[in-house]
Amino acid sequence: MPLDADRVRETLLHLLRTPSFSGQEGAIAAWVTARLEELGCTVERDAAGATFGGECGNVIARLPGTVAAAPIFLNAHLDTVQPTTGLEPQVVDGLVVSGGDTILGADDKAGVTAILEGVAAVVAAGTPRPPLEIVFTVGEETGLHGARALDLSALQATCGFVFDSGTPIGELTISAPTQASQRIVLTGRAAHAGVEPELGINAIACAAAAIAACRQGRLDAETTANIGVIEGGQATNIVPEVCRLRSEVRSRDQGKLEAQVAHFQETFQRVADEFGCALEFSSREAYRGFRIDLAEPVARLAAAAVRAAGLQPSWAEGGGGSDANVFNAGGKRCILLACGERDPHTLRESCALADVVAAAEVVAALLGVAAGERV
Ligand SMILES: [Zn+2]
Repeated sequence: MPLDADRVRETLLHLLRTPSFSGQEGAIAAWVTARLEELGCTVERDAAGATFGGECGNVIARLPGTVAAAPIFLNAHLDTVQPTTGLEPQVVDGLVVSGGDTILGADDKAGVTAILEGVAAVVAAGTPRPPLEIVFTVGEETGLHGARALDLSALQATCGFVFDSGTPIGELTISAPTQASQRIVLTGRAAHAGVEPELGINAIACAAAAIAACRQGRLDAETTANIGVIEGGQATNIVPEVCRLRSEVRSRDQGKLEAQVAHFQETFQRVADEFGCALEFSSREAYRGFRIDLAEPVARLAAAAVRAAGLQPSWAEGGGGSDANVFNAGGKRCILLACGERDPHTLRESCALADVVAAAEVVAALLGVAAGERV
């Protein structure tokens, strides 16, 4: 179905010009709500904002189908990372960029645009569509807050399509790792560094030795680990008593994930004992991984939609967390689809208008394909 590229461009630019750092999604939520209501959707807002100090909740829209087909849901997130102050998108040869001192926010406004415009095209054309649920989440970037607070039992659809990944359009991400996050505190003993350093136990030196003894980085094709934050010490004339660290482990294999967390803990414990430091070590699951089989309906529908849009589907293994992790953990089978964002979370972020138009065409094709799956 041919999409009106000018409309896609106007919607995208409007969304990009509306700042929406996590927790400050009120203005953009109001705007997408009005657009969804124009399409004939019934729109509600839940209380997700209250769970993380945000100003509004998830936007949940429902549009009746025109045929008796299984319902599907579409998702993108409304919030962005920072900085966004003074964000003014510019279009250079079909590529949308920021002025260079802010992010662009194509992550995930390219996804929001693709959904709004793809659904609008189907509604305008009057072609068959299944019952549709559209969920625009808040607080994704700061911890998947909106998705976590969403009442999944209120969604009829059992499978969903999350438009929140990069390029090429037609790429389908069918897996994601579980992530575990660790907090590590080493406590030694303070002493005057010039007068009696022999009485001190240097927690920073202990941390350094432990880090050097840990394996981290890319451990295998599906497992990574990173000790990413370290802080400690007060002054050069004090042997540092406390050193705090934060690390993460990601794996698409639960056993490998647990083995690496245990490796971190055992290594820090061994080195702490050598130094005479006390160790506090805690690890919690940040989000749960998933894997979709290519034969599952959600994967079949996504691939058929990509082909119907004139593109070639490709399959990717994911390395990050997204709302799709939360939905899959809650029993909804979800796949991630590319929507055109490039270099997200950087000042170089961009997206090609043609990619966002193509992603909207995938959305429109998805509705057509899903409408063909009569129940
Ligand atoms: Zn995103």
